[in-house]
Amino acid sequence: MNFVTNPFEVESKILGSKNIFIIQDIDGVCIPLVKDPMNRKISKDYIFAARKFKNEFSVLTCGEHEGKRGVNRIIERCINNISEVKEKGLYLRGLAACGVEYQDNIANTSFEGITKEELEFLSKVPKMMRSKFKKIVNYLFPRLKEIEINSHAIKSICETKFSPTINFNSLFELSKNDLKKRRQIQEMFEIMMNEILICAEKEGLSRSFFLHISPNLGKKNDCEIIKYSTKDDIGSTDIQFLLEGAVKDSGVLFLLNEYIGSIKGEKPFGEKFNFRNSPRTLEEKISFCRQYINHEDMPLIIGVGDTVTSTFNAKDKTHSRGGSDRSFLEFIQLLGKSYGIDNKIIFVDSSYGEVFRPSTKETGLVGITDKRDNLKFDIVFQNGPNEYVNWFINLAIKRYKIKNKN
Ligand SMILES: [Mg+2]
Repeated sequence: MNFVTNPFEVESKILGSKNIFIIQDIDGVCIPLVKDPMNRKISKDYIFAARKFKNEFSVLTCGEHEGKRGVNRIIERCINNISEVKEKGLYLRGLAACGVEYQDNIANTSFEGITKEELEFLSKVPKMMRSKFKKIVNYLFPRLKEIEINSHAIKSICETKFSPTINFNSLFELSKNDLKKRRQIQEMFEIMMNEILICAEKEGLSRSFFLHISPNLGKKNDCEIIKYSTKDDIGSTDIQFLLEGAVKDSGVLFLLNEYIGSIKGEKPFGEKFNFRNSPRTLEEKISFCRQYINHEDMPLIIGVGDTVTSTFNAKDKTHSRGGSDRSFLEFIQLLGKSYGIDNKIIFVDSSYGEVFRPSTKETGLVGITDKRDNLKFDIVFQNGPNEYVNWFINLAIKRYKIKNKN
Protein backbone atom coordinates (compact mmCIF):
# COMPACT_ATOMS: atom_id res chain seq x y z
CA MET A 1 0.00 0.00 0.00
CA ASN A 2 1.29 3.47 -0.87
CA PHE A 3 1.40 6.22 1.65
CA VAL A 4 2.77 9.73 1.69
CA THR A 5 5.92 10.19 3.70
CA ASN A 6 6.79 13.62 2.32
CA PRO A 7 5.03 16.16 4.51
CA PHE A 8 5.90 19.36 2.57
CA GLU A 9 2.63 19.62 0.67
CA VAL A 10 0.59 19.22 3.83
CA GLU A 11 2.82 21.75 5.53
CA SER A 12 2.22 24.46 2.93
CA LYS A 13 -1.54 23.87 3.14
CA ILE A 14 -1.37 24.29 6.92
CA LEU A 15 0.80 27.40 6.74
CA GLY A 16 -1.42 28.93 4.06
CA SER A 17 -4.63 28.58 6.11
CA LYS A 18 -6.01 31.48 8.10
CA ASN A 19 -7.29 29.39 11.01
CA ILE A 20 -5.71 26.11 11.97
CA PHE A 21 -6.20 23.86 14.95
CA ILE A 22 -3.83 20.98 15.77
CA ILE A 23 -5.36 18.26 17.98
CA GLN A 24 -2.63 15.85 19.03
CA ASP A 25 -2.32 12.69 21.10
CA ILE A 26 0.73 12.58 23.42
CA ASP A 27 2.15 9.10 24.08
CA GLY A 28 3.79 7.57 21.03
CA VAL A 29 3.47 10.93 19.23
CA CYS A 30 5.58 13.52 21.08
CA ILE A 31 6.78 11.11 23.77
CA PRO A 32 8.34 7.79 22.67
CA LEU A 33 6.57 4.74 24.15
CA VAL A 34 8.38 3.15 27.10
CA LYS A 35 7.57 0.08 29.16
CA ASP A 36 7.44 1.94 32.45
CA PRO A 37 5.25 5.07 32.03
CA MET A 38 7.21 6.73 34.86
CA ASN A 39 10.25 6.90 32.55
CA ARG A 40 8.56 8.96 29.83
CA LYS A 41 10.61 11.86 28.42
CA ILE A 42 9.66 14.90 26.35
CA SER A 43 11.87 17.26 24.34
CA LYS A 44 12.40 20.78 25.61
CA ASP A 45 12.25 22.24 22.10
CA TYR A 46 8.91 20.51 21.58
CA ILE A 47 7.48 22.12 24.73
CA PHE A 48 8.51 25.61 23.54
CA ALA A 49 7.22 24.88 20.03
CA ALA A 50 3.79 23.89 21.41
CA ARG A 51 3.70 27.19 23.30
CA LYS A 52 4.43 29.09 20.07
CA PHE A 53 1.22 27.78 18.51
CA LYS A 54 -0.86 29.39 21.31
CA ASN A 55 -4.57 28.60 20.87
CA GLU A 56 -3.89 26.77 17.57
CA PHE A 57 -2.68 23.68 19.44
CA SER A 58 -4.28 21.30 21.93
CA VAL A 59 -3.46 17.86 23.23
CA LEU A 60 -6.03 15.08 23.47
CA THR A 61 -4.74 12.16 25.50
CA CYS A 62 -5.94 9.26 27.61
CA GLY A 63 -3.12 9.92 30.07
CA GLU A 64 -3.57 12.62 32.72
CA HIS A 65 -2.22 16.14 33.21
CA GLU A 66 -1.90 16.14 36.99
CA GLY A 67 -0.77 13.65 39.67
CA LYS A 68 2.62 12.00 39.95
CA ARG A 69 2.13 10.16 36.65
CA GLY A 70 0.84 13.26 34.87
CA VAL A 71 2.36 14.87 31.79
CA ASN A 72 2.76 18.08 33.82
CA ARG A 73 5.39 16.31 35.97
CA ILE A 74 7.30 15.21 32.82
CA ILE A 75 7.36 18.83 31.63
CA GLU A 76 8.51 20.11 35.03
CA ARG A 77 11.30 17.48 35.10
CA CYS A 78 12.37 18.43 31.58
CA ILE A 79 12.51 22.20 32.20
CA ASN A 80 13.87 21.55 35.72
CA ASN A 81 12.35 24.78 37.05
CA ILE A 82 8.67 24.78 38.08
CA SER A 83 8.40 28.55 38.32
CA GLU A 84 9.74 28.92 34.77
CA VAL A 85 7.13 26.41 33.54
CA LYS A 86 4.39 28.43 35.23
CA GLU A 87 5.64 31.88 34.25
CA LYS A 88 6.15 30.98 30.60
CA GLY A 89 2.96 28.90 30.43
CA LEU A 90 4.72 25.76 29.21
CA TYR A 91 2.12 23.17 30.25
CA LEU A 92 0.41 21.47 27.32
CA ARG A 93 -3.01 22.98 26.78
CA GLY A 94 -5.84 20.53 26.13
CA LEU A 95 -7.75 17.49 27.30
CA ALA A 96 -6.50 14.49 29.25
CA ALA A 97 -8.10 11.35 30.73
CA CYS A 98 -9.72 10.71 27.30
CA GLY A 99 -11.61 14.00 27.29
CA VAL A 100 -12.38 14.61 30.97
CA GLU A 101 -9.58 16.78 32.40
CA TYR A 102 -9.01 20.15 30.70
CA GLN A 103 -6.14 22.51 31.39
CA ASP A 104 -4.81 25.74 29.93
CA ASN A 105 -1.09 26.38 29.49
CA ILE A 106 -0.60 27.50 33.10
CA ALA A 107 -2.18 24.27 34.38
CA ASN A 108 -5.52 25.66 35.52
CA THR A 109 -7.45 22.39 35.38
CA SER A 110 -11.19 21.76 35.26
CA PHE A 111 -13.30 18.62 35.08
CA GLU A 112 -16.97 19.28 34.52
CA GLY A 113 -19.73 16.68 34.31
CA ILE A 114 -18.49 14.26 37.00
CA THR A 115 -20.45 13.48 40.19
CA LYS A 116 -19.02 13.27 43.71
CA GLU A 117 -20.01 9.59 43.89
CA GLU A 118 -18.15 8.80 40.67
CA LEU A 119 -14.99 10.53 41.89
CA GLU A 120 -15.22 8.65 45.19
CA PHE A 121 -15.56 5.31 43.45
CA LEU A 122 -12.64 6.10 41.11
CA SER A 123 -10.44 6.84 44.13
CA LYS A 124 -11.10 3.30 45.45
CA VAL A 125 -10.31 1.51 42.16
CA PRO A 126 -6.47 1.27 42.47
CA LYS A 127 -6.82 -0.41 45.89
CA MET A 128 -9.33 -2.90 44.46
CA MET A 129 -6.92 -3.56 41.59
CA ARG A 130 -3.97 -4.17 43.91
CA SER A 131 -5.56 -7.02 45.88
CA LYS A 132 -6.81 -8.74 42.70
CA PHE A 133 -3.45 -8.13 40.97
CA LYS A 134 -1.58 -10.05 43.67
CA LYS A 135 -3.85 -13.09 43.30
CA ILE A 136 -3.55 -13.16 39.51
CA VAL A 137 0.24 -12.72 39.47
CA ASN A 138 0.62 -15.37 42.17
CA TYR A 139 -1.29 -17.78 39.97
CA LEU A 140 0.55 -16.92 36.74
CA PHE A 141 4.05 -16.67 38.23
CA PRO A 142 3.99 -18.92 41.32
CA ARG A 143 7.74 -18.54 41.93
CA LEU A 144 7.62 -14.79 42.29
CA LYS A 145 8.36 -13.45 45.78
CA GLU A 146 6.00 -10.99 47.43
CA ILE A 147 8.51 -8.14 47.13
CA GLU A 148 8.76 -8.77 43.36
CA ILE A 149 4.97 -8.90 42.98
CA ASN A 150 4.76 -5.57 44.77
CA SER A 151 7.34 -4.04 42.48
CA HIS A 152 5.35 -5.21 39.43
CA ALA A 153 2.16 -3.87 41.01
CA ILE A 154 3.73 -0.42 41.29
CA LYS A 155 4.66 -0.44 37.59
CA SER A 156 1.41 -2.02 36.39
CA ILE A 157 -1.29 -0.17 38.34
CA CYS A 158 -1.55 3.46 37.36
CA GLU A 159 -3.12 5.28 40.25
CA THR A 160 -4.71 8.17 38.40
CA LYS A 161 -7.64 10.35 39.41
CA PHE A 162 -10.00 9.89 36.44
CA SER A 163 -8.65 6.86 34.63
CA PRO A 164 -7.11 4.15 36.87
CA THR A 165 -5.27 1.79 34.54
CA ILE A 166 -3.74 -1.66 34.47
CA ASN A 167 -0.69 -1.82 32.21
CA PHE A 168 0.69 -5.21 31.14
CA ASN A 169 4.18 -4.24 29.95
CA SER A 170 6.07 -5.17 33.09
CA LEU A 171 4.39 -8.60 33.24
CA PHE A 172 4.88 -9.08 29.49
CA GLU A 173 8.58 -8.60 30.04
CA LEU A 174 8.52 -11.29 32.69
CA SER A 175 6.76 -13.75 30.38
CA LYS A 176 9.30 -13.10 27.58
CA ASN A 177 8.27 -15.06 24.45
CA ASP A 178 5.67 -17.23 26.17
CA LEU A 179 2.69 -16.36 23.99
CA LYS A 180 0.25 -18.39 26.07
CA LYS A 181 1.25 -16.53 29.20
CA ARG A 182 0.92 -13.14 27.49
CA ARG A 183 -2.63 -14.02 26.46
CA GLN A 184 -3.44 -15.26 29.96
CA ILE A 185 -2.31 -11.92 31.34
CA GLN A 186 -4.63 -10.08 28.94
CA GLU A 187 -7.52 -12.43 29.63
CA MET A 188 -7.30 -12.46 33.42
CA PHE A 189 -6.89 -8.72 33.79
CA GLU A 190 -9.82 -8.05 31.50
CA ILE A 191 -11.93 -10.22 33.82
CA MET A 192 -10.53 -8.32 36.81
CA MET A 193 -11.51 -4.95 35.32
CA ASN A 194 -15.00 -6.24 34.52
CA GLU A 195 -15.39 -7.34 38.15
CA ILE A 196 -14.64 -3.77 39.23
CA LEU A 197 -17.31 -2.51 36.79
CA ILE A 198 -19.79 -4.87 38.46
CA CYS A 199 -18.80 -3.48 41.89
CA ALA A 200 -19.63 0.01 40.59
CA GLU A 201 -23.01 -1.21 39.38
CA LYS A 202 -23.73 -2.64 42.82
CA GLU A 203 -23.04 0.79 44.30
CA GLY A 204 -25.68 2.32 42.02
CA LEU A 205 -23.19 3.56 39.40
CA SER A 206 -24.38 1.36 36.57
CA ARG A 207 -24.01 3.90 33.78
CA SER A 208 -20.99 5.71 35.07
CA PHE A 209 -18.01 3.80 33.74
CA PHE A 210 -16.65 1.66 30.91
CA LEU A 211 -13.41 -0.15 30.03
CA HIS A 212 -11.10 1.34 27.44
CA ILE A 213 -8.71 -1.25 26.05
CA SER A 214 -5.61 -0.01 24.22
CA PRO A 215 -5.04 -0.93 21.46
CA ASN A 216 -8.36 -2.66 20.74
CA LEU A 217 -10.08 -4.31 17.79
CA GLY A 218 -13.10 -2.07 17.68
CA LYS A 219 -16.35 -2.71 19.54
CA LYS A 220 -18.85 -5.52 19.97
CA ASN A 221 -22.11 -5.02 21.88
CA ASP A 222 -20.79 -1.60 22.93
CA CYS A 223 -17.72 -3.18 24.60
CA GLU A 224 -14.18 -2.78 23.28
CA ILE A 225 -12.59 -5.97 21.95
CA ILE A 226 -9.23 -6.95 23.40
CA LYS A 227 -6.39 -7.53 20.93
CA TYR A 228 -4.64 -10.74 21.99
CA SER A 229 -0.88 -11.06 21.63
CA THR A 230 0.47 -12.79 18.56
CA LYS A 231 3.98 -13.67 17.48
CA ASP A 232 4.32 -10.34 15.61
CA ASP A 233 2.24 -7.99 17.70
CA ILE A 234 2.10 -7.55 21.45
CA GLY A 235 -1.61 -6.60 21.20
CA SER A 236 -3.45 -4.81 24.02
CA THR A 237 -1.15 -3.38 26.68
CA ASP A 238 -3.55 -1.33 28.85
CA ILE A 239 -7.06 -1.40 30.22
CA GLN A 240 -8.38 1.86 31.60
CA PHE A 241 -11.35 2.29 33.92
CA LEU A 242 -12.99 5.36 32.40
CA LEU A 243 -15.99 7.59 32.94
CA GLU A 244 -18.84 6.82 30.54
CA GLY A 245 -18.74 9.33 27.68
CA ALA A 246 -14.98 9.87 28.00
CA VAL A 247 -14.07 9.23 24.38
CA LYS A 248 -11.64 11.19 22.29
CA ASP A 249 -14.13 12.18 19.56
CA SER A 250 -16.24 13.97 22.18
CA GLY A 251 -13.00 15.61 23.25
CA VAL A 252 -12.68 17.10 19.76
CA LEU A 253 -16.04 18.86 20.25
CA PHE A 254 -14.94 20.22 23.63
CA LEU A 255 -11.65 21.49 22.19
CA LEU A 256 -13.37 23.08 19.19
CA ASN A 257 -15.72 24.85 21.60
CA GLU A 258 -12.71 26.24 23.48
CA TYR A 259 -10.83 27.14 20.29
CA ILE A 260 -13.69 29.02 18.64
CA GLY A 261 -14.48 30.63 22.02
CA SER A 262 -10.88 31.93 22.18
CA ILE A 263 -11.24 33.58 18.77
CA LYS A 264 -14.82 34.83 18.84
CA GLY A 265 -15.22 35.46 22.56
CA GLU A 266 -18.25 33.18 22.63
CA LYS A 267 -18.30 29.38 22.75
CA PRO A 268 -20.56 27.89 20.06
CA PHE A 269 -21.79 25.00 22.25
CA GLY A 270 -22.12 27.22 25.33
CA GLU A 271 -20.04 27.67 28.48
CA LYS A 272 -21.27 24.48 30.14
CA PHE A 273 -20.55 22.02 27.33
CA ASN A 274 -18.60 18.93 28.47
CA PHE A 275 -18.07 15.25 27.56
CA ARG A 276 -21.27 14.24 29.33
CA ASN A 277 -23.58 16.33 27.15
CA SER A 278 -21.84 15.53 23.88
CA PRO A 279 -23.83 13.69 21.17
CA ARG A 280 -22.92 9.98 20.92
CA THR A 281 -22.32 8.94 17.30
CA LEU A 282 -20.00 10.57 14.78
CA GLU A 283 -22.99 11.47 12.57
CA GLU A 284 -24.75 13.18 15.49
CA LYS A 285 -21.56 15.01 16.35
CA ILE A 286 -21.26 16.33 12.78
CA SER A 287 -24.89 17.53 12.74
CA PHE A 288 -24.29 19.17 16.10
CA CYS A 289 -21.33 21.10 14.66
CA ARG A 290 -23.34 22.06 11.56
CA GLN A 291 -26.03 23.42 13.83
CA TYR A 292 -23.76 25.60 15.99
CA ILE A 293 -20.59 26.36 14.01
CA ASN A 294 -20.66 28.61 10.93
CA HIS A 295 -18.51 27.65 7.98
CA GLU A 296 -16.28 30.71 8.34
CA ASP A 297 -15.52 29.87 11.97
CA MET A 298 -14.43 26.28 11.29
CA PRO A 299 -10.60 25.95 11.21
CA LEU A 300 -8.48 23.54 9.21
CA ILE A 301 -8.05 20.75 11.79
CA ILE A 302 -4.90 18.63 11.95
CA GLY A 303 -5.37 15.39 13.90
CA VAL A 304 -2.27 13.53 15.09
CA GLY A 305 -2.22 10.03 16.60
CA ASP A 306 -0.31 6.76 16.75
CA THR A 307 -2.85 4.14 17.89
CA VAL A 308 -4.92 2.91 14.96
CA THR A 309 -5.49 -0.77 14.27
CA SER A 310 -6.95 -2.91 11.50
CA THR A 311 -6.75 -6.69 11.78
CA PHE A 312 -7.79 -9.00 8.96
CA ASN A 313 -10.09 -11.87 9.95
CA ALA A 314 -9.32 -14.70 7.51
CA LYS A 315 -12.51 -16.56 8.48
CA ASP A 316 -15.03 -14.02 7.18
CA LYS A 317 -12.59 -11.86 5.16
CA THR A 318 -13.41 -8.72 7.14
CA HIS A 319 -11.29 -6.24 9.04
CA SER A 320 -11.68 -5.42 12.74
CA ARG A 321 -10.78 -1.75 13.03
CA GLY A 322 -10.04 0.01 16.29
CA GLY A 323 -7.34 1.83 18.24
CA SER A 324 -7.80 4.64 20.73
CA ASP A 325 -6.95 7.38 18.21
CA ARG A 326 -9.20 6.06 15.45
CA SER A 327 -12.49 7.66 16.50
CA PHE A 328 -11.12 11.17 16.92
CA LEU A 329 -9.12 11.02 13.68
CA GLU A 330 -12.14 9.68 11.78
CA PHE A 331 -14.30 12.40 13.25
CA ILE A 332 -11.84 15.13 12.22
CA GLN A 333 -11.70 13.73 8.67
CA LEU A 334 -15.50 13.44 8.33
CA LEU A 335 -16.10 16.84 9.87
CA GLY A 336 -13.72 18.39 7.34
CA LYS A 337 -15.57 16.70 4.48
CA SER A 338 -18.88 17.97 5.77
CA TYR A 339 -17.53 21.55 5.79
CA GLY A 340 -15.61 21.20 2.52
CA ILE A 341 -12.32 21.59 4.39
CA ASP A 342 -9.52 19.14 3.69
CA ASN A 343 -8.57 18.39 7.29
CA LYS A 344 -5.22 16.65 7.71
CA ILE A 345 -4.61 13.33 9.45
CA ILE A 346 -1.11 12.49 10.65
CA PHE A 347 -0.03 9.03 11.76
CA VAL A 348 3.12 8.60 13.83
CA ASP A 349 4.68 5.12 13.80
CA SER A 350 5.43 4.50 17.48
CA SER A 351 6.72 0.96 16.98
CA TYR A 352 10.35 1.87 17.56
CA GLY A 353 9.92 2.63 21.24
CA GLU A 354 10.24 -0.04 23.88
CA VAL A 355 6.72 -1.32 23.17
CA PHE A 356 6.44 -3.77 20.30
CA ARG A 357 3.83 -2.77 17.69
CA PRO A 358 3.45 -3.30 13.91
CA SER A 359 6.15 -1.34 12.08
CA THR A 360 5.39 0.59 8.87
CA LYS A 361 9.00 0.13 7.77
CA GLU A 362 8.79 -3.64 7.97
CA THR A 363 5.20 -4.43 7.03
CA GLY A 364 3.79 -1.20 5.59
CA LEU A 365 0.37 -0.36 6.99
CA VAL A 366 -0.61 -3.95 7.76
CA GLY A 367 -2.20 -4.13 11.21
CA ILE A 368 -2.80 -0.35 11.16
CA THR A 369 -5.14 0.35 8.24
CA ASP A 370 -6.32 -1.35 5.03
CA LYS A 371 -7.50 -0.44 1.52
CA ARG A 372 -11.16 -0.31 2.52
CA ASP A 373 -10.55 1.70 5.66
CA ASN A 374 -12.37 5.06 5.50
CA LEU A 375 -9.65 6.65 7.55
CA LYS A 376 -6.85 7.93 5.29
CA PHE A 377 -3.55 9.36 6.45
CA ASP A 378 -2.10 12.53 4.88
CA ILE A 379 1.30 11.99 6.47
CA VAL A 380 2.90 8.89 7.97
CA PHE A 381 5.96 9.60 10.10
CA GLN A 382 7.69 6.25 9.76
CA ASN A 383 10.61 7.26 11.94
CA GLY A 384 8.38 7.81 14.92
CA PRO A 385 8.03 10.57 17.53
CA ASN A 386 11.48 12.09 16.90
CA GLU A 387 10.70 12.69 13.24
CA TYR A 388 7.26 14.13 14.07
CA VAL A 389 8.68 16.35 16.82
CA ASN A 390 11.30 17.82 14.45
CA TRP A 391 8.64 18.54 11.85
CA PHE A 392 6.39 20.08 14.53
CA ILE A 393 9.15 22.36 15.85
CA ASN A 394 9.86 23.70 12.33
CA LEU A 395 6.16 24.15 11.64
CA ALA A 396 5.76 26.11 14.89
CA ILE A 397 8.57 28.50 13.94
CA LYS A 398 7.12 29.09 10.45
CA ARG A 399 3.56 29.53 11.72
CA TYR A 400 4.72 31.93 14.43
CA LYS A 401 6.46 34.11 11.82
CA ILE A 402 3.32 34.20 9.66
CA LYS A 403 1.06 35.05 12.59
CA ASN A 404 3.39 37.75 13.93
CA LYS A 405 4.30 39.39 10.62
CA ASN A 406 2.59 42.68 11.32
MG1 LIG B 1 -0.72 7.39 21.69
